[in-house]
Amino acid sequence: MRIHHLNCGCMCPVGGRFWDGVSRGITGQLVCHCLLVETDRNGLVLVDTGFGSRDVEDPYGRISPLFLHVNRIRLEHRYTALEQVKSLGFSPRDVRHIVLTHLDFDHAGGLEDFPGATVHVLRAEAEEAEVRQGFIHQRRYRPEQWDEVRDWRFYDPSGESWFGFSFVRDLEGLPPEILMVPLPGHTMGHAGIAIDTPEGWLLNAGDAYFHRHEMDEEPSCTPGLLAYQRMMEENRSMRLRNQDRLRALANDPSGNVRIFCSHDPVELEALQRLSTGWRPLRSDYVPSRHYS
Ligand SMILES: [Zn+2]
Repeated sequence: MRIHHLNCGCMCPVGGRFWDGVSRGITGQLVCHCLLVETDRNGLVLVDTGFGSRDVEDPYGRISPLFLHVNRIRLEHRYTALEQVKSLGFSPRDVRHIVLTHLDFDHAGGLEDFPGATVHVLRAEAEEAEVRQGFIHQRRYRPEQWDEVRDWRFYDPSGESWFGFSFVRDLEGLPPEILMVPLPGHTMGHAGIAIDTPEGWLLNAGDAYFHRHEMDEEPSCTPGLLAYQRMMEENRSMRLRNQDRLRALANDPSGNVRIFCSHDPVELEALQRLSTGWRPLRSDYVPSRHYS
């Protein structure tokens, strides 16, 4: 099993450090951290898709103007999972499964670039996305991004306990090393995706938190990301409780679980470097380059 850490979306909201804590210019840098997993017998597995080629070609037909402008989404083909899969030497048909943390516009935009893939998501998320009730739901869930998907697998709450998290389960047709970990709060059907690797567990926590320092023993978050999380949350107490549990796990040396979220550029760069064998000298270093 080999894991690639991909950035499938760039967002540059006005406010600089107010959002990401490190940018020196007027705009911040947020990424869409997705995984491409080369499995031994189940083809390629994509964990989240970021923005897709159709988002690039028709942004206003697929994404809410509110988020296009507030998040200042930079839509370019080179950031799509489709282009990155091809540049790694694979065919889009090699992507046989897509596992989603949730169905927000910045995670599901690339689904239709892989028409042969089976898409796995919690049933609660699919139901909320279908109903699209209220101002935020109508803008976060965009049926245009997934209405051509034919092969879904929906999962109800059932399964084992995993490091204190309940209802953790494996997925149909996928290797047992890949688990879905329900983490409701940001949305009610939100999940993390855990992967058992030879180096230890890797947990993609999706949008369960947004800023790396939220996982510190003394947590902190930038004002921009704090406000954004509150605007997008479905259930604050569940969201904060899951953050507490993730934080405890992240700081438990015996757990051996490497946790990351979807939108932090420093976490992405650290894991990209680790996966290519380069180890940073410090765990809190800042990105060395602009994401362009
Ligand atoms: Zn997101």
